[in-house]
Amino acid sequence: MSIRKTFTVLLLIIIPLATFAQGTERFDNYFIDKTMRIDYFHIGNAETEIITIDHIYQYGIWAGSRKNLADNFNNGAYYYKIYDAASGELIYSKGFDSYFKEYQISGIKDMRSYHESAVIPYPKFKFKFALDKRNDKNELTEVFSIEINPSDISVIKDAVKDDEVKIYKTLYSGDPHSKVDIVILGEGYTKEEEQKFKTDVEKFTDTFFKYEPYNRMKDHFNIYGVLKPSEESGVDEPRAGIYKNTALGATFNSLGSERYLLTEDNKAVHDIAAHVPYDAIYIMCNHERYGGGGIYNFFCTFTSDNQFNEYLFVHEFGHSFSGLADEYYTSSTAYDNFYKVDLEPVEPNVTALLDPANIKWKDFIKKGTEIPTPWEKQKYDEMDYAWQKQRTEMNNRTAELKRTGASKSEIKKAEDDYAEADKAHADKMAGYLNNSKYVGVVGAFEGAGYMQKGLYRPMLDCIMFTKSCDVFCKVCEHAIENVIKHYLE
Ligand SMILES: [Zn+2]
Repeated sequence: MSIRKTFTVLLLIIIPLATFAQGTERFDNYFIDKTMRIDYFHIGNAETEIITIDHIYQYGIWAGSRKNLADNFNNGAYYYKIYDAASGELIYSKGFDSYFKEYQISGIKDMRSYHESAVIPYPKFKFKFALDKRNDKNELTEVFSIEINPSDISVIKDAVKDDEVKIYKTLYSGDPHSKVDIVILGEGYTKEEEQKFKTDVEKFTDTFFKYEPYNRMKDHFNIYGVLKPSEESGVDEPRAGIYKNTALGATFNSLGSERYLLTEDNKAVHDIAAHVPYDAIYIMCNHERYGGGGIYNFFCTFTSDNQFNEYLFVHEFGHSFSGLADEYYTSSTAYDNFYKVDLEPVEPNVTALLDPANIKWKDFIKKGTEIPTPWEKQKYDEMDYAWQKQRTEMNNRTAELKRTGASKSEIKKAEDDYAEADKAHADKMAGYLNNSKYVGVVGAFEGAGYMQKGLYRPMLDCIMFTKSCDVFCKVCEHAIENVIKHYLE
């Protein structure tokens, strides 16, 4: 063998090794294997926006990827970005949405402050922490930045310890660095309800893997249930005059929408989640009413005991984990102007169809499919809008009964009547959609993202569209799979 040949053979051996090492080399250059949490206040109203740093924490190992340090999904209204101070190089980024953004869109004029956390791998050296926000063309522009010294003595390094907190590992597939680590936090479970929490976490862990792509990628997940018992059972229902002292402060009627269930106690959420390595946060609310919410790379909530709890559980996580948009448009929400029909949304599963030849999911569209794709929309809208009106009336009546101290049986009857009507309507709509000749077609169906006109969804039905659907459309499923892969390397 000539020298030249030997050299080539050596190179062939060395190259794959080098490529592999390159994976975490960059991480090792800039970060240590710990988590930094930068807490800040996001203050403002529809016009103003101010950001102030609260506290910075160090804890546990870094649960995220050590290879994919840049977020290239281009999703979410905001990005936080970490730049090495000495070189100015971008070393970490992540897109997200926030409660503040939704408050801002709701158009309320009063100044409010919301607490947020940027969870990042722990930098070795001084760095610039920046927040980018999308402008009216959806381009990211920096709205805040500050230099942070990770060695500063003001960084809080308290041990994460709370004797009341219980941890249940319901699925462990391996090293958190290369798995998707999901924490399910218990909200509104008292000490006496610990067993119920455990049963619920196990039940929903099983539920998770009934759906694709989660099922075929099960080996890539770790799931932890973490419970800090609440003083009282349930969550706040302001319209009914019910307030509960709970560990995470979740409440119905968030931003004035009756079934929107969120918490503003972001610090409590992250303090309790910090007991395990986590990439994504679920807040499981111990309640029977229909309610939930999901904010991209923030958290999601769902109620444990509603008849549609499995739907809520997967639908809301579709928002918070993969940044999927709501594909429905008939039900009332907290905001009227979430999307604009003349601006392409950043989410992967809705389009304004400004360039019909280049829809973001065009790879899934069969040649010859009509765009926009016609469907039996008029009758669907008639039936669904009629139900939305009836649903609001029924819910208002139940709230009225609770507020005025009606008897337990009277309240229960109103709730049961509503649950029955809700289910009957969901079944009726499922039947209607299933009879369509467009079942299984990927195209561009008008009606999506709270807009009856001007926004389009990929398929007739999807978990992001109706609660009677038990599969994600092809486009959502693919988007979720891409997000999972981001955490695996
Ligand atoms: Zn979908």
